[in-house]
Amino acid sequence: MSFDAMPAGAYANAASFFDLSEDQRQILDAADLYARNELYPLARRMDDEEWWPAEAFAKLGRDGYFGITMPPDYGGVGGDLFTSGLVLQAFSRWNHALGLSWVAHENLCANNIYRNANEAQRRKYLPGLCSGALTGALGLTEPGAGSDALGSMRTTARRVGDHYVLNGTKIYITNGPVADVLLVYAKTAPDKGAHGISAFIVEKDFPGFRVAQKLTKMGFRGSQTAELVFDDCRVPAENLVGEENRGVAIVMSGLDLERAMISPICLGVAERALDLCIDYARTREQFGKPIASFQMIQSKLADMYVWVETMRAFNYRVLAAANHLEIGDGGRGEIHALTAASVMYAAETMNKVLDQAVQIHGGSGYIWESEINRLFRATKLLEIGAGTTEIRKLIISGELLKR
Ligand SMILES: Cc1cc2nc3c(=O)[nH]c(=O)nc-3n(C[C@H](O)[C@H](O)[C@H](O)COP(=O)(O)OP(=O)(O)OC[C@H]3O[C@@H](n4cnc5c(N)ncnc54)[C@H](O)[C@@H]3O)c2cc1C
Repeated sequence: MSFDAMPAGAYANAASFFDLSEDQRQILDAADLYARNELYPLARRMDDEEWWPAEAFAKLGRDGYFGITMPPDYGGVGGDLFTSGLVLQAFSRWNHALGLSWVAHENLCANNIYRNANEAQRRKYLPGLCSGALTGALGLTEPGAGSDALGSMRTTARRVGDHYVLNGTKIYITNGPVADVLLVYAKTAPDKGAHGISAFIVEKDFPGFRVAQKLTKMGFRGSQTAELVFDDCRVPAENLVGEENRGVAIVMSGLDLERAMISPICLGVAERALDLCIDYARTREQFGKPIASFQMIQSKLADMYVWVETMRAFNYRVLAAANHLEIGDGGRGEIHALTAASVMYAAETMNKVLDQAVQIHGGSGYIWESEINRLFRATKLLEIGAGTTEIRKLIISGELLKR
């Protein structure tokens, strides 16, 4: 995959065209073909066994699918967030579980390190993350701190000489069981609430770090999810990202980008579901005719088409708006509301698409092994991860009421 013809920021005006440029279309099509050939064959076993295809990340790195938003100096591609979203859309059509792991590595971990870390940290970690030699994760959520991730955070980091000592537990961490490098949030000043949080880069071999358990999920199976424990975990002071007690800006800016970036998962899954439904409706016969000839089935297909098209338009509009979010920006204002709205709409609409898709498939859609059932089980997560639908509504209404 080559992104040579794709200077950073080239697509700032994507939203104003209401469709993709020729270059963008080519990137989406190339990523689609790649995912169909390379990622789709892994999907069934991942779903059946919660199996992690250990070689997949190194191959994605070799084939140029990591480091999209990072400059070539660090081993990246020098593209932008919009392009990254197109790649995720394509990947999610064929293997949404790998898409989820890809975005946790690429955006939540690597892009956050790129945007917030110092030069030495970038040089140490980004080349490995961009090549796929290292797998990345982000640890914010805790057993007692989900929606109130900042206020209720219990993980602490105490400075002792040239180290910080981390104690606490993180839960539901994507890529947790297989991560080499984790961006982790902890309280350096517990009495200062959200303004006492700092970010750290933790390596899996640091003493005191361990994976407590790998979690089994209803959907996105094969994407690895874990509970992580920090038990007097010694992190070199040089692995503090940004300034001490300034982690909240990293969290908030990162969450806005994450929300813009995970919406394409919903789009890709919904697009694939619609394609499967069209094929099924044409081939499945009842009453001596293809079910596609029945107007109630046609009505469902028409509804699904409208939902997918509106998801796509909104998704691209918000990705374009988030494309040039300055470092430290986000977490407030229009972009905060827009990114929350993007994933809220995408997740809810994907659920509607999949509900109809299983209905069109009848009994075959209820069978675990069927592809449409795998896609159906991908519903709900995107209403929960990166801030639930309820929290997104609070963000949107909060911004509206400040006007
Ligand atoms: C598969 C998976 C992968 C994940 N990956 C990661 C990851 O890589 N890194 C990471 O840090 N986290 C990750 N998460 C965690 C995810 O972000 C949290 O699950 C999410 O933020 C919700 O937190 P919670 O599960 O504790 O729910 P809770 O906060 O306990 O919420 C329970 C319910 O209460 C509602 N609620 C809470 N507060 C309010 C309120 N003020 N008003 C109205 N309703 C409210 C919620 O909307 C929800 O319906 C992942 C989660 C899953 C399931």
